[in-house]
Amino acid sequence: MFPLNATLAEPQHFSLAEKLLLVVLVAASATAFWLRFRVVLRKILQSKIDAGFHLFPIGKRLWDFLWEVAFQAKVIRQRPLPGLAHAFVFWGFCAFVLVTLNHFASGLGFGFLDPASRFGRFYFDFAAVFALACAVGIFGLFVRRFLVRPKWLGEKLSYQSGFIAFLIFLLMVTYLASYFVADADPATRLLWWVHTLAILIFLAIIPHTKHLHLVLSPATVFLSRGGFSQIPPLAGDEDFGLIAGTDLTRLVSLQAFSCVECGRCTEHCPASNTGKLLNPKEIILGLRGYLNDLGPASEDSLLGKYNSQDAPFQCTTCGACEFQCPVGIEHLPILIGLRRGAVNTGAWQDDYGSKLFLALERGSNAHGLPASERDKFIEKAALPIFDGTQEFCLWLGCMGGYDPKGREIIADFARVMNFLGASYGVLRKEKCCGDPVRRLGNDLVFQQLAEANLEALAQAKTKKIISICPHCVRTIQEDWKEYGTPPAVEHHSEFLARHADKLPRPTSIAAVNSESFVSGHDFSRAENAANSSGALAPAAMSGKLEKIVYHDPCYLGRYRNVYKQPRTVIKSAGHLVEAPRSHARSFCCGAGGGLVFLGEETGERVGQVRAAELVSTGATTIATACPFCNGIFRDALADKVEAAPHLLDIVQLIARELPERGQYKR
Ligand code: SF4
Ligand code: SF4
Repeated sequence: MFPLNATLAEPQHFSLAEKLLLVVLVAASATAFWLRFRVVLRKILQSKIDAGFHLFPIGKRLWDFLWEVAFQAKVIRQRPLPGLAHAFVFWGFCAFVLVTLNHFASGLGFGFLDPASRFGRFYFDFAAVFALACAVGIFGLFVRRFLVRPKWLGEKLSYQSGFIAFLIFLLMVTYLASYFVADADPATRLLWWVHTLAILIFLAIIPHTKHLHLVLSPATVFLSRGGFSQIPPLAGDEDFGLIAGTDLTRLVSLQAFSCVECGRCTEHCPASNTGKLLNPKEIILGLRGYLNDLGPASEDSLLGKYNSQDAPFQCTTCGACEFQCPVGIEHLPILIGLRRGAVNTGAWQDDYGSKLFLALERGSNAHGLPASERDKFIEKAALPIFDGTQEFCLWLGCMGGYDPKGREIIADFARVMNFLGASYGVLRKEKCCGDPVRRLGNDLVFQQLAEANLEALAQAKTKKIISICPHCVRTIQEDWKEYGTPPAVEHHSEFLARHADKLPRPTSIAAVNSESFVSGHDFSRAENAANSSGALAPAAMSGKLEKIVYHDPCYLGRYRNVYKQPRTVIKSAGHLVEAPRSHARSFCCGAGGGLVFLGEETGERVGQVRAAELVSTGATTIATACPFCNGIFRDALADKVEAAPHLLDIVQLIARELPERGQYKR
């Protein structure tokens, strides 16, 4: 690629006039940088201190920093090609730190890296490899942004981005070109000055553009709240959430200035994808606009001119935005903070919302049904009462205790637990875990529910909770911590996967291999066995293994990182097929964030979009692991899909193989 034995050429001597010019240009560039950067820094530091923020333990922070910033792993994993292109640019910049310091030092006569020395030559060549990768990377990103133009980047062409890409390309090309000229060649001096000007212009414009993320995002990633979708506690009685500039915290302001406007959050947002007002990228840019125009001392509302009040209430809290963001922006604390502000000031008026809040303030469940309904179900399903001696407290939740389909799932889970010999019981009195009010921003009602439940569980001497609902699991494990120490809690998929070798299986699968589960790889073997044995098991439909598509619930996948366990359960019941969007990229069902209890959605229904996607796999059964997803798909399939697939919770795939049929009938 380079002429053999070539070394980087450098001008040998700089006149006094050149040195003076260099000093003036560096000073001008640094001043232009600082004048804007100090404004940003001041706005961040003038913002409120974050309640409940701890720097320690530092180990996880360092690891996240290495993983996300140094290795660029998140960017690459989520979008491999553009991610790699971006990583090459980033790594190129890192490799160039030493080269650039030497560049300016040599202009002033203090160069410390000699291209003729062994180390100098090694390092310049090392940087040249990165320069080449960086030039290719930035060219690729330019093509993507200006020619391919994914719609998530927005309608407007960003000439700023084009100019920055040009400067980076110029930096790399002038560096590489220096390998093809001699020290004494006048072209060497020209290349040196063009390279210098490109660096100084680049430095000057960084804080004036979205490329400020180059400086801020390492800090944003390092200073995360320490976990996915961490809702910070309110800072005392005077804190009502995000209402005005004075409520913006340092982390929120830092994050608002860090956004690189890549649109990944919007690309994966179920609300944005179904024609709603909510656009997570615009929420962040709205806050940035507010900070730029009014600053963190302003008493003006954060909603209105800068962000619509309706948008945060269209959020399902699925977390796809926060999960995708490459610069560590935490959307959920912001969205829920805005909801808190609107709910606590009474600015949000919604009939369904008011009804829900009242039901949970006065009663025990989000459906607004009398608690006696739950008692009747417990009796009918013959569920044992938890007395402190059993291993598990089986948490019913609002869906398991009051919703007809949720009750069926609980009854089936109880049968499977009986089959496995697990000891469990249900609380005599149980209130909603508080998930919908927590996510809708009603802290007062959430506190009441969390405290009442914590007390009931402590009185019952509960050590372990098990639940069919990922929303309950998350809320009990993480959100209740604000008001006490919750017992250990797990989702039924985790329990079932742990007992996978004892689960009853369809004859078709057991015939193939009683030791290992059927994977896509050995599907045809299992199918043949099913056919040849004339399997009559319910899962073997028309002599074939049942094709089951699994929908990853957001609160089990992204929130809890549980992906394998439900799949293990499904593979013991049939042939697992994957949806086009699965695992961490799963598309929400639309129920979360309390939305399932609010009125009709605007635009397309999220649940219908997802249900259609699941149906498109050709599966004969849709398996869920969340009663909310189940409820949403039940409606979506009934509404729109002819010859709809079966819809079952993962535990129902197991329960139907049990020798005894369930006693519970609605
Ligand atoms: S949490 Fe989900 S619905 Fe809410 S803004 Fe983010 S991606 Fe959209
Ligand atoms: S918030 Fe994050 S994901 Fe969304 S546009 Fe900004 S940088 Fe990209």
